[in-house]
Amino acid sequence: MINQTVKHIAGAMRRELSLLYSPEETEALVSRTLQHVLKVSRSDIYLQPDTNVSKTAVHAIEKITAALKKFEPLQYILGETSFYGLDFKVNSNVLIPRPETEELVDWILKENTSDHLKAVDLGTGSGCIAVAIAKNRPSWDVTAADISPEALKLAGENAAQNNTKVTFLHEDMLNLSAGLKGRKFNLILSNPPYVTTAQKEEMQPNVLDYEPHVALFAPGPDPLIFYRAIASFAFTNLEPSGKVYVEINEDLSEKSAKIFEEKGFKTNVARDIHGKYRMLKAYRND
Ligand code: GLN
Repeated sequence: MINQTVKHIAGAMRRELSLLYSPEETEALVSRTLQHVLKVSRSDIYLQPDTNVSKTAVHAIEKITAALKKFEPLQYILGETSFYGLDFKVNSNVLIPRPETEELVDWILKENTSDHLKAVDLGTGSGCIAVAIAKNRPSWDVTAADISPEALKLAGENAAQNNTKVTFLHEDMLNLSAGLKGRKFNLILSNPPYVTTAQKEEMQPNVLDYEPHVALFAPGPDPLIFYRAIASFAFTNLEPSGKVYVEINEDLSEKSAKIFEEKGFKTNVARDIHGKYRMLKAYRND
């Protein structure tokens, strides 16, 4: 049998995926798959196309290609992704961390530089917000809560893998425990489920068929139910100079802000790199 080279295997993958994905997506998927399986850098793929690929690696790449053809997200197939420069494990129990959420983390870190703040991340999922914050502010006391025991297990692994100390709690955001209600925080953070039923119609199969609906959609007809819960919690549990930072639905920014304003908070809404109203800050004092 003739040896398979990087060029051959990349070409075969490109041919199959380009029928289903855009040219840019195809190239990104090919490049990330080869980097992962062959443990090479991005430039190696293009600069050393005649390197032989082992039979085992060819099989692994074929398996990944087959899953990609079913629109399974590459991050779930590989079981990993990167977020804010850190490596995270992901599986179908948690949302794949998004670049917009990195922007939220960036905003939080830029505006909060003092030591020893107490922060809580509600609906932590993979733990991406809590772990990125704890990594960059090791003196902070970081707590993270989620309703899903499977998500908490993975988030715990992500905290350990990144050498961070985060306290994880099993909590229902709509029915917080007395324990959590008895604590005060300087920062209340969250990227809760916020996709509306109308937006669901427009979602791509890679999101809709694979990502956890409990992390994407509010449980009832009110898409802002979690923001109401966060605002109520902040009303009683945020320190006077504390701040709330949440990711929001781009189409519901004004309504989201109003929920916090009705509780006496001032608000700022910020856009993401795509120009969409994606983040909200609520606070009492300047
Ligand atoms: N931004 C995500 C999406 O569009 C949703 C995140 C969320 O619901 N918190 O898929």
